Amino acid sequence: MGASRFLDELGRRVLVCDGAMGTQLIARGLRSGECSVLWNSDRRDDVLAIHRAYREAGCDLITTNTFGGSPSVLARHGLEERAGELNAAAARLAREAAGPSGFVLGDVGPFGDFLEPIGDTSVEQARDIFRRQIAGLIEGGSDAILVETMSDPAEAEVAVAVAREAGAPAVIATYAFQKSADGSFRTMMGNDVADALGRARAAGADVVGANCGTSLSLGDYAVLAGELAKAAGGTPSIIQPNAGSPRMVGDSAVYDATPEDMAALVPRLLAAGVRVIGGCCGTTPAHLKAMAAAVA
Ligand SMILES: [Zn+2]
Repeated sequence: MGASRFLDELGRRVLVCDGAMGTQLIARGLRSGECSVLWNSDRRDDVLAIHRAYREAGCDLITTNTFGGSPSVLARHGLEERAGELNAAAARLAREAAGPSGFVLGDVGPFGDFLEPIGDTSVEQARDIFRRQIAGLIEGGSDAILVETMSDPAEAEVAVAVAREAGAPAVIATYAFQKSADGSFRTMMGNDVADALGRARAAGADVVGANCGTSLSLGDYAVLAGELAKAAGGTPSIIQPNAGSPRMVGDSAVYDATPEDMAALVPRLLAAGVRVIGGCCGTTPAHLKAMAAAVA
């Protein structure tokens, strides 16, 4: 014990993670098709301001702006060779906002293809992709690697194992679940909560849970939280709900849950036994401020 300041703190109290990054970047001028990860270099003041807004809202955990930061996703923008540098820069920005008492989560999203045999990427290729991103995130000072929005436990296993091998102080893994016709929560690949979380734990994740999700209501998240805590066993669990189920306005999804709605959800998440609470799509610093106050 004692190897991870983040896990030590999590053993003492419930921690609050931050909320959505993408919508905050769009509000600051990110254009459709533009590489958001490049902002860690070219628009660093904007990224820092978003991190600071979440930190000031009461978030303990600041997530790097690297959801699309794997070399394979950066390659779509011709930026594959800058993966290490951009991920390290992102972690330094989050570190600056988190301060000495906050924690930096080095964000790792899906690498953008499916593993063989469904997709064209071998496990060895996926390992190399994740290794290059995670090395940058650790170099920049991440307190934990957050493997998020996973839909395939096999991909999560690869990313978690690579993070462990790279010397990450702690590893978190979260899946996006949807509600299937029989009412159960499943990944897009059809895995139930126990299977998905169990495989992440077996691969070496210290904290497991869910983020985002497809068309889940706030009530659904409360039920899901109970399943997460149960499936996590002795491992702490995390949930980062969207601001309710979205409605489509033209091409864009609009999330209507207010900060008060999200704060009202918090006691139900805590009662379910979840140890880390944050937000995903549609959440803002105002939502997280209300949620952090509810946790406190
Ligand atoms: Zn989301």
